[in-house]
Amino acid sequence: VLDAVWDLCLGSGCAACDRPGRLLCAGCAAALPTTAEVCFPTPCPPGLVPPTAVGPYDGALKRLVNAHKEEHQLALARCLGDLLAVSVTAHATSGPVALVPMPSRASVVRARGHDPLLRVARRAAGTLRAAGVPGRVHAALRASRAAADQAGLDAGARAANLAGSMGVRSGAARRLRRLTHGDPPARVLLVDDVVTTGATLREAQRALEEAGVTVAGAAVVAATRRRRDPSRA
Ligand SMILES: [Zn+2]
Repeated sequence: VLDAVWDLCLGSGCAACDRPGRLLCAGCAAALPTTAEVCFPTPCPPGLVPPTAVGPYDGALKRLVNAHKEEHQLALARCLGDLLAVSVTAHATSGPVALVPMPSRASVVRARGHDPLLRVARRAAGTLRAAGVPGRVHAALRASRAAADQAGLDAGARAANLAGSMGVRSGAARRLRRLTHGDPPARVLLVDDVVTTGATLREAQRALEEAGVTVAGAAVVAATRRRRDPSRA
């Protein structure tokens, strides 16, 4: 009955496999990754902190990210947030974590009508706290100038496009610095839904480091597979 109600309300089926009924069917939910690993982009922006992801940006993960972001399937923030929490825990931290989401431009948030990453990050922080890891979201970054649309740009062009495009909100740097020197010290982790070239994460890292904030790593839901693994060729 519940499935039928969901179907009526949402007019949709499983966001990952189209099976009628729930927004995420039991089979797809059970098949979601439960571990994460470090996955540097290739090529990698010099000096990028280690990014972790639960899997490749492909298949069910790709469909879930896009259904949430572009099709306003907001209930998926729970599952994406839980996946992001898994990615965070791959940094093997039991102390406090400060999650810093990549900033969305105000115009993009207005156009979409929501800030999908912020919602996912908040869910992840809640899931971490429930698991005994003190986690909080710090929306410390802002897009200080409009970068062009990244789609279609290669790694070098993305980096050039983004250089200097982010700033740290006043007060946020001081708060984060205080947390990283606390007892126990917090680790600052950048969070995003997908890592592709790593240019966005690297720019965020640059902005925070210039503000005196030590960045320990990055956690994302999914990593774009950009070239065939040579060991499997
Ligand atoms: Zn499904």
